[in-house]
Amino acid sequence: MFKTKKFVKMALVSAMAAIFLAGCGGDKTSTDSSKDVLAQIKEDKKVVFGVKHDTRLFGLKNPSTGEVEGFDIDLSKALAEEIFGKDVKSEFVEVTSKTRVGLLNNGKVDAVVATMTITEERKKEVDFTDVYFDAGQSLLVKKGSKIQSIDDLKKDTKVLAVKGSTSSINIREKAPETTVLEFENYAEAFTALKAGKGDALTTDDSILYGMAEEDPSFELVGGTFTEEPYGIAVKKGNTELVDELNKALKSLKDSGKYDEIKDKWIKN
Ligand code: GLU
Repeated sequence: MFKTKKFVKMALVSAMAAIFLAGCGGDKTSTDSSKDVLAQIKEDKKVVFGVKHDTRLFGLKNPSTGEVEGFDIDLSKALAEEIFGKDVKSEFVEVTSKTRVGLLNNGKVDAVVATMTITEERKKEVDFTDVYFDAGQSLLVKKGSKIQSIDDLKKDTKVLAVKGSTSSINIREKAPETTVLEFENYAEAFTALKAGKGDALTTDDSILYGMAEEDPSFELVGGTFTEEPYGIAVKKGNTELVDELNKALKSLKDSGKYDEIKDKWIKN
């Protein structure tokens, strides 16, 4: 009798453990399924890319169509087609510089293609593909501004940057005297610059060119003062997905498709 009771108890415990584990397996947002994002994409026939909605040329939401457009979007679509064929649908979810790592790690997006620099610090949290674009940090000012380079950023100047960006960290190192004001995204930071709330806006030259194109009364000054190699980020441990993305990136480069996409968006 005692033995039977014990057996029943053990069986119950194992059954409960099995139910718990099964519950973890199918849930995209659970940490346990993180190891195989690639398999989940194939199963769902859907890949979710985290992209910017505030960054002209790379990822910008077109208010008249509701579509998000730019280099990162076209590259994501081409990569998805290269890896999965037409069978898997590409979806796009907004990320900002501040939210992109969190949204990747909680499973809301499968890959981040969002002007994201590969850094040693970020490699502790996510895995990156090979470099897919080379940018460098610069400054955007109103034409005729007294600020012409990073050397002009002194105690009495205000520089605008975006939360969670490398630009915001770098500028504090390179111009320690200046005041840095941080915004949630690039649309807000540029609006603040236009409203005269700062003397310069700092981020990658590639992003600043988009702003200067939108409003030609602004210009880039002083060249670049950092290197910002962009990579696609995936949740840590997804080596197979990184390999697939790298293979696809290489074949897009070999076929000329990568250049075609780049030439469509990047003129500088
Ligand atoms: N590439 C820089 C970064 O990854 C600046 C652009 C951005 O904020 O996305 O932080």
